[in-house]
Amino acid sequence: MDNINKIMLQSAEAFKQYRKVSGKQKAVFLRAIAEEIEALGMELIHTTMEETNLPEARLLGERGRTIFQLKMFADLLEEGSWVEARIDTAQPDRKPLPKVDIRKMSVPLGVVVVFGASNFPYAYSTAGGDTASALAAGCPVVLKGHPAHARTSAMIADAVLRAVERTGMPEGTFAHVDGGNGFEIGKALVMHPVTKAVGFTGSFAGGKALFDMANQRPEPIPVFSEMGSINPVVLMPEKLSTSSESIAKEYAGSITLGVGQFCTNPGLILGVDNADLQNFIKVLAGEIEKISPSKMLNAGIYQNYEGKKTVALAQDDVTTEAESLVEKTDTIQGLATVASVDADVFLANPTLHQEVFGPFSLVVKCKDLTQLATVIQHLEGQLTATFMATETELQANDDIVEALRNISGRLIFNGVPTGVEVCYAMHHGGPFPSCTDARFTSVGPDAIKRFVRPASYQSFPDSLLPAELQDANPLNIWRMFDNEWKK
Ligand code: NAP
Repeated sequence: MDNINKIMLQSAEAFKQYRKVSGKQKAVFLRAIAEEIEALGMELIHTTMEETNLPEARLLGERGRTIFQLKMFADLLEEGSWVEARIDTAQPDRKPLPKVDIRKMSVPLGVVVVFGASNFPYAYSTAGGDTASALAAGCPVVLKGHPAHARTSAMIADAVLRAVERTGMPEGTFAHVDGGNGFEIGKALVMHPVTKAVGFTGSFAGGKALFDMANQRPEPIPVFSEMGSINPVVLMPEKLSTSSESIAKEYAGSITLGVGQFCTNPGLILGVDNADLQNFIKVLAGEIEKISPSKMLNAGIYQNYEGKKTVALAQDDVTTEAESLVEKTDTIQGLATVASVDADVFLANPTLHQEVFGPFSLVVKCKDLTQLATVIQHLEGQLTATFMATETELQANDDIVEALRNISGRLIFNGVPTGVEVCYAMHHGGPFPSCTDARFTSVGPDAIKRFVRPASYQSFPDSLLPAELQDANPLNIWRMFDNEWKK
């Protein structure tokens, strides 16, 4: 633990310098990280393939997304308006009391500890979205590598460190701590007094444990944990009456995409029990039976999948509708599975509400739309919710749509929840227990907001204010200036 203390103290020292680095210089640093990752070439891809069983095409895509995210934050910093500058100039003659000059902007929190995710070895790990957004905010990052892809993490960490050196960032702006020594290291990082925030993607047990630790510190700190989600999908009767077959095929693809190892995997499908729903289940089952099994990320995730799936299927009155019939060629291949249950049983059994991380989905058969709405009201917070319906049904079922919006961070109309676009309007975060703070997204430029806080400057001389708040607006950013948006 001496080593952890040394790393944390160096990060705290780095913060003293790094928080003053201009947006343009930080942008150069983030672009340099992107270049260094690109320069790792196919050696990186092949290393990650060995460690995670993910196919080359998926990893090439994920590397592209990671590089895109770094450049996206670089663009954000170069433009500069993200600091949300608000300026209220003084009114010394205001009656009955004069108004002071007060100006507000976002400032970095301090050292951020990031836990790399097992299911996104690039985009949500060492130089992924959490790291990129924290560095963009002006926070040094201490990265806890995920033991399931330790070599990948070390290679990317070296790339980040080369970028630190190349662009003259303070030593300690980024540090990598190896995973694999049990929870003690993660706990020490979260509990260290210099840590000011935590980013995490993984299990509910892990994310909640870190959140609880952080709240028990003498100085509690924010923990942005993205945890489990079963991403409910509502199949409305009119829509299903015309498209049960095509929806079933589309969903067979979404349930099994990436061997179901996505936080947005559709794990729960709700419909009114009638001939169209039965047809949907029949077609979905037929598609699932044809899916060739693929290796899961690692033995632990496979065992977790098998364990949780077995528990779900063993619950009273749960019917296994289909399991992939294609023979396994490796022990850790996860077989795609769909099951069904009546809504009465589902409502009475909380075990069935839990995430089964992998290619699994449960169809809940409701008596009518009233019962379907009741089921939604009994669900916990989710990253996404999907409404498969005609526009007439969308208009006529405000209560169901509203109930879905209440429990989720992203509401999808006629689509699948898998696939998370990296853009301004994306909200990837939802009410607890999908996340520990529903107000923030971990995807897109707004992810930077997790690692800053607002700070006001009152009655400061103009020349001693940060450039973002000076009268002349030297950075030419958008600001709210005396109640008006101005450049
Ligand atoms: P995990 O068990 O939550 O671990 C993620 C990271 O958090 C690891 O680095 C782990 O440390 C650390 N950690 C977990 N619990 C901790 C604790 N109590 N104290 C300190 N550190 C702790 O996730 P995982 O290894 O990625 O996968 C396990 C299961 O999580 C999966 O089978 C799946 O069910 C779920 N999962 C869900 C999602 C999702 O998006 N919903 C994503 C990934 C995983 P160590 O390195 O020391 O083990």
